[in-house]
Amino acid sequence: MYDYTAPANLLKDRIILVTGAGDGIGKAAAMSYAKHGATVILVGRGRKKLDAVYDEIEANGWPQPVIVSLNLADATAENFKELANMIGAEFGRLDGVLHNASTLGKRTPLASYDDETWQEVMHLNVTSPFMLTKALLPLLEEADNGSVVFTSSSVGRKGRAFWGAYAISKAATENMMETLADEQDGVTNIRVNCINPGATRTNMRMKAYPGEDPDKLATPEQITPLYLYLMGDDSIAMNGKSFDAQ
Ligand code: NDP
Repeated sequence: MYDYTAPANLLKDRIILVTGAGDGIGKAAAMSYAKHGATVILVGRGRKKLDAVYDEIEANGWPQPVIVSLNLADATAENFKELANMIGAEFGRLDGVLHNASTLGKRTPLASYDDETWQEVMHLNVTSPFMLTKALLPLLEEADNGSVVFTSSSVGRKGRAFWGAYAISKAATENMMETLADEQDGVTNIRVNCINPGATRTNMRMKAYPGEDPDKLATPEQITPLYLYLMGDDSIAMNGKSFDAQ
């Protein structure tokens, strides 16, 4: 696992938005941010799962989170503008965003990859994070040191047979991170980086590798040190880098 021990108050008074916060890695990251003092904006499509995360955060006595139900697979620029307006009215700034929600699509050769799934994967994995980032940049500029974290995958660094739109979307994600990071460098106080979680025990992993023994995989909770590092001030000097969580 990434070697970092976060101080208990690492994210005290920070406002951090997490997409796909209802389950898997996004849930674990959101919980760890709240535990370290952040007010977390939980974005996801499943109200029930988001409510459960909200309740767990409240039960622990951590800062009260905010729930935003939004299907990122068909969200529009208008939806993201409304979200940014809500955050602006409520908090006046945003300290961090974790782009975590993604979809796997289908594991088939590109030659037979269906166009509809391609569109879905590219919209959720690439277009939504782009539009959301664009809407949130003015709020991130209001923070002392804003942090944007994208989520990649090993197949985004080197394409692999049958990973289709997912692999291509993750390569685009790495490039979006680099492009945005370069644009912010020396211009704003915003840093932009990427996390490759590595094999982690979640629903998406089970779907990709149905025959695998989940007990042999890292849990989402075990990989949170890197997620904390990139949101806290210890990573202020990092910009334009792609990290491995394990
Ligand atoms: P999960 O499928 O377990 O969780 C994904 C989360 O995103 C869920 O909360 C899900 O909500 C949400 N989500 C999915 N579709 C939408 C949508 N249309 N709108 C809003 N929210 C949505 O995946 P992981 O936790 O495994 O993956 C998290 C990230 O890590 C992804 O970017 C993935 O590509 C990446 N990753 C994961 C690896 C692994 O081994 N697990 C390895 C490499 C990368 P719901 O529960 O309602 O479906």
